[in-house]
Amino acid sequence: MRPLSYSRAATVEEAVALATEDPASAFLAGGTNEVDLIRAGIAEPDHLIDINHLPLAGVEDLPDGGLRIGALARMSDVARAPGVAERFPAISSALLLGASEQIRNMASMGGNLRQRVRCAYLRDGVSPCNKRAPGSGCAALEGLNRGHAILGTSEHCIAAHPSDVAVALVAFDAVVRTVGPDGERAIPADDFFLLPGDTPELEHPLGHGELIVGIDVPGAPIARRSVYLKFRDRQSYEFALVSVAAAVEVVDGAVADARLALGGVGTKPWRARRAEAALIGARADEAAFVHAAGAELEAALPRRHNAFKVEFARRATARALGQSMRGVEP
Ligand code: SF4
Repeated sequence: MRPLSYSRAATVEEAVALATEDPASAFLAGGTNEVDLIRAGIAEPDHLIDINHLPLAGVEDLPDGGLRIGALARMSDVARAPGVAERFPAISSALLLGASEQIRNMASMGGNLRQRVRCAYLRDGVSPCNKRAPGSGCAALEGLNRGHAILGTSEHCIAAHPSDVAVALVAFDAVVRTVGPDGERAIPADDFFLLPGDTPELEHPLGHGELIVGIDVPGAPIARRSVYLKFRDRQSYEFALVSVAAAVEVVDGAVADARLALGGVGTKPWRARRAEAALIGARADEAAFVHAAGAELEAALPRRHNAFKVEFARRATARALGQSMRGVEP
């Protein structure tokens, strides 16, 4: 058994200072991911800094109709906050479709964004895995890759990003706010998640000691009709094979605005900008939705076991756009 020391931070400044002075430290919030990683030997901190007592658990309305979500707000609380459920139903649905009720009650929003991929080869501790041991290879390339990504992959890693709510946050231009040893930063969510490229071990741009303090979601009237659809092997406690966060605004039968992001298919929560561009000005019907999804998926690079995701994602995207247009509850 490895010894671990424990500190409890009372302020953001104290948390950052404690982490900065100890390179072998890690923040501990809900613990639903970090403790798993420690048990699996993937994360090996010597010192846990408990941040659960920091005043970062609120969900506030912003003047522009947006949201300021505290990093320590629990998934369940955010999902049921009136401002989230009414103005950003896709965010609420994505949270409620993630994990299990027990985990949603514990897991923090900041931790959700920092969670690591669920690739079995990362977690088995012995297979070649460039995330666990950079340069060792990627067992998933020729292995069991049914759940892996088809967009944003590299020859070094094809793991799909596991978060549901991150997909909805990316769709609505959320911004991740941090405080670190060098001060405050505001990082667009789309930039917060890194493609694997040649450095799959780097999953986000945070420096050591840099703490996520909140997530801002700008006001977006289009989000009131947003949906989040999730398709998976079972209806509870399972990661997405394909998921879609979508919102569409139709004026005189044509698409005036659209927001679209995909989960389960990308190495990061995948903002579908090609599809959005294809939708603007198009006639708002099933054929246009399928065409737009196809434009996004032209870049897909399927592997032996996950080629089904290409058509799956095309159909799921068209369905989500249609439901948003009709105002249908998911
Ligand atoms: Fe590791 Fe990524 Fe390959 Fe999985 S897909 S074995 S996480 S490098």
